[in-house]
Amino acid sequence: MHKIILKPGREKSLLRRHPWVFSGAVARIEGKATAGDTVHVVANDGRFLAIAAVNPDANISARVWDWNESTQINTAFFHRRLNAAIGMRRALFGRNPEEAERLVHGESDGLPGLIVDRYADVVVLQISSAGCHRWREAIIEALQQITAARAIYERSDADVLELEGLTPRTGLARGELDTPVVEIRESGIRMRVDVAKGHKTGFYLDQRDNRLQVGRLAAGRDVLNCFSYTGGFTLQALVHGAASVTSVDSSADALQLAREHVRLNDLREDRCEWVDADVFLYLRKLRDQNRQFDLIVLDPPKFAPTAATAERAARGYKDINLLGFKLLRSGGLLATFSCSGGVSADLFRKIVAGAALDAGADAQVIVQFHSTPDHPVSLAFPEGEYLKGLLCRIN
Ligand code: SAH
Repeated sequence: MHKIILKPGREKSLLRRHPWVFSGAVARIEGKATAGDTVHVVANDGRFLAIAAVNPDANISARVWDWNESTQINTAFFHRRLNAAIGMRRALFGRNPEEAERLVHGESDGLPGLIVDRYADVVVLQISSAGCHRWREAIIEALQQITAARAIYERSDADVLELEGLTPRTGLARGELDTPVVEIRESGIRMRVDVAKGHKTGFYLDQRDNRLQVGRLAAGRDVLNCFSYTGGFTLQALVHGAASVTSVDSSADALQLAREHVRLNDLREDRCEWVDADVFLYLRKLRDQNRQFDLIVLDPPKFAPTAATAERAARGYKDINLLGFKLLRSGGLLATFSCSGGVSADLFRKIVAGAALDAGADAQVIVQFHSTPDHPVSLAFPEGEYLKGLLCRIN
């Protein structure tokens, strides 16, 4: 077995069970290990720390599979881990065959660099680490056995792939799909997910519970849904009796699908306004037109993937939140989110507080949002908690 030997004192994060070994912590790698090989991570004094997948050329040199020296990393290991992740969800949340859910959430489920989502009877996986790439066949085979999915589709095309030196891979891995557009239900609402071309694995599953919670507040209100994608928040608002919903996104395809969803669910098209625009510009236009809303959703894409880009991201969040507060009527609600790993919940709250202050808004936090619970966060891996949000009410 190859070994990664850490610099003196650099074993601390591993002793706290953080699953990443950064290149800066590595003294040397013993043996000719290539990306994806299983290695032992050892402290400078030779003490065993973890068993991991190595990636000698990446910034994250190793990702931990397990903390026990005797664990064998083989096909059975992946079957066990996948079974545990999927079994946990069955036990806690049951399984609705028509709905969508996250089955595997990477590091937090002990499978670094692996995301698995289920859209009704279709499973979509995304591999973004050299270790999971090496064990791709074993993972897909185990998923087939455990889920009995009609099809397994691969969407290993995330930006982070490049950092791991992996080439993107997409397409059908098992079974058959006559169309990549899969119909699901989200708390009763029919939605279509394009697993081939949709964002991420096709859809934003992490916001499921938040969409319902925000939608329930929409009755009789004029709603502005910014960064609406395929209409998740829009549909929930309509179902719960919103007076009007203005949906803004810069993707014409996403807006098109959102409109289709309104018809599919027999919802009130006459209450909908669709805007293909840049939210940063459109919010200014609304301000100049003196438009006002009772409920505004801001769910932008990731502005800061890492802490290094947090400052620029902070300006972006400040800007849209400030405009959001200004566009609210008295008693209005702002549901504002950040999915930037590089912006902590604490920092996000400070940015939103600064935006309220500059907008002259007297705001209270009513709800703190997190990902839907099938996106668990390992306590040893705080990076897993990327999605945070606040529901603010202004006087
Ligand atoms: N709220 C959505 C998910 C939003 S994802 C849901 O619940 O499903 C972010 C969306 O922002 C994407 O649809 C993307 O097309 C859009 N987007 C990214 N930058 C944008 C911009 N500057 N202006 C408008 N839309 C943007």
